[in-house]
Amino acid sequence: MARDRLISTQRRGDDERVDTALRPRNLRELIGQRSLMERLHIAMEAAKGRGEPLEHILLDGPPGLGKTTLAHVIAKEMTGKGPRIASGPSLAKQADLMALLTTLETGDVLFIDEIHRLPRIVEEFLYPAMEDFRVDFTIEGGMSGRVVNFALKRFTLIGATTRAGMLTGAMRDRFGHSFHFEFYTTEELTEILRGSSKRLGVESREGALSEIALRSRGTPRVANRLLKRVRDYAQVRADGVLTSVVVAKALEIQQVDDLGLDELDRAFLTALVRTYSGGPAGIEALAATMGQERDTLEDLVEPYLLQIGFVIRTRAGRQATLRGCAHLGLPFHEPAVAERGSVVAGIFRGSRVDQAELYSEENLGGDESGSAV
Ligand code: ADP
Repeated sequence: MARDRLISTQRRGDDERVDTALRPRNLRELIGQRSLMERLHIAMEAAKGRGEPLEHILLDGPPGLGKTTLAHVIAKEMTGKGPRIASGPSLAKQADLMALLTTLETGDVLFIDEIHRLPRIVEEFLYPAMEDFRVDFTIEGGMSGRVVNFALKRFTLIGATTRAGMLTGAMRDRFGHSFHFEFYTTEELTEILRGSSKRLGVESREGALSEIALRSRGTPRVANRLLKRVRDYAQVRADGVLTSVVVAKALEIQQVDDLGLDELDRAFLTALVRTYSGGPAGIEALAATMGQERDTLEDLVEPYLLQIGFVIRTRAGRQATLRGCAHLGLPFHEPAVAERGSVVAGIFRGSRVDQAELYSEENLGGDESGSAV
């Protein structure tokens, strides 16, 4: 069920078509990510001014925030054509990458999605390609292989990852630019939805799109998906026009609440509060209690619950906050004495949580998996 969620940030089967149809085509159409955009703009103008290809770029951030979209836009702006596309898991052997690299022209953009999932042997093969634009390729044959040195054209690699922490230092160091994607504000998502409804030919009344934006988990992919479901509802149960009431009803049927939480989010918080007295609880323990994969919880549930301050991560494990408990009508358990007075206790009572604070060393600490069961 986790992967089929309406509010999943992960790309699903039907998203490919929608993503492509609704994808902004140039820098002007891209909304939000202001600080990233400014730095990117400068880098692109500077490279163009020098008549050089862009340095390699690393894009990191949760799924659905626009990494693939940005890679397409950069390639188009720099070369007038789209990027060559691959993904970490699809490049199983050196030869797979070799086939791509040797066909690149000067300035071409190679986009590798999920670059943290490149097999180590392929990753190491990529290093000299990134750094010196050459590869040492082993041709199998006879008793032993023969190593041939190939010179490559100067290309730009754009790597995207949802798990920057899983990249090796050696890989990270080979990117000239590194851009981190933040979740979008409700206003930015409303703006994105305005563009999407225009493209889909959907009519809406004042306030309807911001109601969808509020439930979109800071993620354009979710916003576009919810828009399509609301459009279906409006067509069948109303006169086709989106209003705040139509949005609320349509998403109530889909069991998405007014903050964009669904059954899986509620199950996570409920397990944390009911089984572990609010925490701290290790992610493995929670996954076992819920009968879910650890990765599912880490990729698809936690980021948003952390973002809205419903859960925090401490050295000892995941803890439910007062805000999270209040939203679901669950009893709130005070954090352990040791945590009181710390930044953690402050966050417990805070309203909206500052991401920088949440992801600070102090809060993330080491991984507590398996502890506090
Ligand atoms: P990621 O690669 O990070 O998983 P995508 O680039 O596939 O995300 O984005 C998913 C969809 O969200 C895109 O097809 C596009 O419709 C929309 N989108 C993403 N970022 C933006 C943006 N900045 N402005 C408008 N739409 C966006």
